[in-house]
Amino acid sequence: MTTYNNLIDGKWVPSASGQLFENRNPADDRELVGLFQKSTRADVQCAIDAAQRAYTSWRLVPAPRRAEILLRASQLIAERKESLARDMTREMGKILDETRGDVQEAIDMTAFMAGEGRRQYGQTAPSELRDKFAMSVRQPLGVSSVITPWNFPMAIPSWKIAPALVCGNTVVFKPATLTPLSAVNFVKILEEAGLPPGVVNLVTGGGDEVGDALTAASEVKVVSFTGSTGVGRTVSEKTAPSFKKTHLEMGGKNVIMIMDDANLDLAVDGCVWGGFGTSGQRCTAASRVVVHEKVYRTFLDRFVSRVKRLRVGNGLESEVEMGPVVSRAQLETVARYVDIGRREGAKLVCGGNVLSSGSYAHGYFHEPTIFADVAPTMRVAQEEIFGPVVSVISCRSFEEAVAIGNGVEYGLSASIYTQDVNRAFAAMRDLYTGIFYVNAPTIGAEVHLPFGGTKNTGNGHREAGTAALDVFSEWKSIYVDFSGKLQRAQIDTE
Ligand code: NAD
Repeated sequence: MTTYNNLIDGKWVPSASGQLFENRNPADDRELVGLFQKSTRADVQCAIDAAQRAYTSWRLVPAPRRAEILLRASQLIAERKESLARDMTREMGKILDETRGDVQEAIDMTAFMAGEGRRQYGQTAPSELRDKFAMSVRQPLGVSSVITPWNFPMAIPSWKIAPALVCGNTVVFKPATLTPLSAVNFVKILEEAGLPPGVVNLVTGGGDEVGDALTAASEVKVVSFTGSTGVGRTVSEKTAPSFKKTHLEMGGKNVIMIMDDANLDLAVDGCVWGGFGTSGQRCTAASRVVVHEKVYRTFLDRFVSRVKRLRVGNGLESEVEMGPVVSRAQLETVARYVDIGRREGAKLVCGGNVLSSGSYAHGYFHEPTIFADVAPTMRVAQEEIFGPVVSVISCRSFEEAVAIGNGVEYGLSASIYTQDVNRAFAAMRDLYTGIFYVNAPTIGAEVHLPFGGTKNTGNGHREAGTAALDVFSEWKSIYVDFSGKLQRAQIDTE
């Protein structure tokens, strides 16, 4: 059985704790994927010290040179895409097509950020004074803490680490305890691509110990966190006293709105993919579907008959369409919400059960589940379940659909199916989310556009695209006076 170490200051080292944790396959928990370091605050401090030392030289490496390392990393990830995807399916369960997509996002993001090595554009502006030059440039912040969830084990780390590095920051990275292997794989590739020691450090372990130390440390200048809203709030409270720049990407309760003029077959395809892709464990999962009453019955019949045919199983098998959920705790959460939905009076029209016999016996499998006739205020329509459970809600009008769509605490992604361009544009304007789709489900973001959400999903920052540079850099405005005399802004006019 392979034991994986932390990466600190360019060396793969065990934790000072001498303790390990297990990483098991959620499709068959008899399979131990690997043993990982259960790290301590002392390990985190070593990693932060290394990152701080590395920062003094890394920030001075020209950005195009930093970018060359990212480009090499992108090529190495592409060469190893298949084995990286297989490792990811083994440790978190989603099907191979999706883990390949996750790895592809890391390829795309590292390549995109490599391009930013030759851009990171600032501004030049005319000065109000003669013989004076005015410009703004991006400056790195220093040591960055990167804390990530398990549902996109390579994509999300790449969304944070690639822009952090191209801007000239150094990184201490703590992945979710459920997906440390993909984190090790990603960091090994960065190392192989030529990253100097200490520029990226990896410390595995729990949120309470490792995560907490990474948010509290005074040497850390920026924290980039993706995870649940509850933990995000804790992170925010921890970083506030020291005014650390804090980037939070949190939960979602995303909606697909289907109007009476929609192409219903297309909408069904979108709801199956949006609701049950990654077993519903995407922050952008379409866990609510709001359907115009005129097409409600027809849509529901077609949706249910499609979902009943979904093949659930081990994501490594090519015919499987939906894998397990990530852990026993997640399975219990899903089962609890199915129970809550039933008790609230939602109508269970598909699934609803944990799968535990035969080939499912050793995994965390749940039937794809649909609740119909759901009231927008029910808990299953309000709270993030993060599993294969979709709530279908009827509405009487476009305006009501928009109100229901907006009527949750989250604001990550929303979508509309309609043939009416006026409604499509009104919805684009009126849904208060960070991401919006027309005639496509709530999932499908691309790396070169900003990604993030409003309300309790985010705190105003965005990742991906050039927006990610704003998280990992600060503006410095520079004025150069070449007049040889004192010129006073706002006072001298000649
Ligand atoms: P989580 O909040 O439980 O954990 C996220 C990370 O934070 C993990 O690495 C965890 O170990 C760490 N952590 C836990 N306690 C901590 C603490 N006190 N201090 C610092 N770090 C701590 O989330 P999860 O279960 O891994 O992921 C699922 C959640 O992530 C869902 O809510 C989902 O919506 C969200 N998510 C959001 C996005 C987005 O972009 N908005 C993307 C993916 C996932």
